[in-house]
Amino acid sequence: MTTTVRAYASPSADGDLALTTIQRRDVGPLDVMIEIEYAGICHSDIHTVQGDWGPQPYPLVPGHEIAGIVVEVGTAVTNYAVGDRVGVGCMVNSCGQCENCTAGDEQYCVNGMVGTYGVTDRDGTITQGGYSTHVVVTEDFVLRIPEGIELDAAAPLLCAGITTYSPLHRWGAGPGKKIAVIGLGGLGHMAVKIAHAMGAEVTVLSQSLKKQEDGLRLGAGHYYATSDETTFTDLANSFDLIINTVSASIDISAFLGLLTVNGALVNVGAPAEPLPVNAMALIGGRRSFAGSMIGGIAETQEMLDFCAEHGIGAEIEVIPAEKINDAYKRVLASDVRYRFVIDASTFA
Ligand code: NAP
Ligand code: ZN
Repeated sequence: MTTTVRAYASPSADGDLALTTIQRRDVGPLDVMIEIEYAGICHSDIHTVQGDWGPQPYPLVPGHEIAGIVVEVGTAVTNYAVGDRVGVGCMVNSCGQCENCTAGDEQYCVNGMVGTYGVTDRDGTITQGGYSTHVVVTEDFVLRIPEGIELDAAAPLLCAGITTYSPLHRWGAGPGKKIAVIGLGGLGHMAVKIAHAMGAEVTVLSQSLKKQEDGLRLGAGHYYATSDETTFTDLANSFDLIINTVSASIDISAFLGLLTVNGALVNVGAPAEPLPVNAMALIGGRRSFAGSMIGGIAETQEMLDFCAEHGIGAEIEVIPAEKINDAYKRVLASDVRYRFVIDASTFA
């Protein structure tokens, strides 16, 4: 038995998303059914539906920044009750037993975590994401959204928030640390807010100075245009940590030159194309080039609690469902301030 719910699906790699219906499984003993109120549009949704990362099982409902209210719980659910404010991010399951799952790194499950959309779930069905009215998720992959963060501003935290919080935390962002964020989009603006709240000195490295005022308001102390070549000489050997959030391939070696000795550039941007690196840029400063993917479930809850404590939500533009295709075009044109969030009550 299943429940039919409304959703917006991509029909193919190049077709517009359109209203449709999908099936959600009945609530099992350990499941929670969530009535979705808001779903963020992540650039990963766009990469995925365009086939940047490989072929997809269309029709595909994207969306892994989900915020809503619990409307039904299974008989064995212990952590959630009807009426709770909750979220779901990029994963809906993992094996729970491998060394990474038991260490709280479910996103690196050696048996393959189950992504929120476009992958085969344990029951053999294809997962469908948050551009929808309801979703059914096992309680271990449901997050609690603290009072004090509005659900619309909370939705993007479930991916953009944790994807930036996790490397900032792991690489020691805090007082006395100089951190640069490349790209002021959905992830980038969260990186600025979170790094600032952690006490670090934050610099934005954007393509232009168009969003400078916003960047400084969000918590950056400095703002530079990467289109200006003097940026790379002025800032040489400056940063302890650089977080690259850019969705396209950029000249990583040029940015490595901005790191101090022992500095690290952590890539969270996931372009379709490779990111070539000049070994000399690493060797010449004992520098690291690393990557990071979202964060574990416990760490995601920690991030939500941190954001609530510091009064942090995403800067959002709430849109009705019929604006999804326009929003995709605007994200691709770097014309987003700073996350589109779909109002799920408009899936009519
Ligand atoms: P976004 O909102 O589109 O932001 C990306 C920003 O990168 C843009 O706003 C722009 O900032 C800059 N940019 C775009 N094209 C550029 C180009 N050709 N050259 C230089 N800069 C460019 O995207 P997002 O949702 O933040 O996602 C960013 C990337 O992270 C995507 O690749 C996404 O798939 C990936 N991602 C990874 C994870 C993970 O777990 N690692 C999780 C979520 C997303 P400026 O205008 O300021 O230059
Ligand atoms: Zn995402």
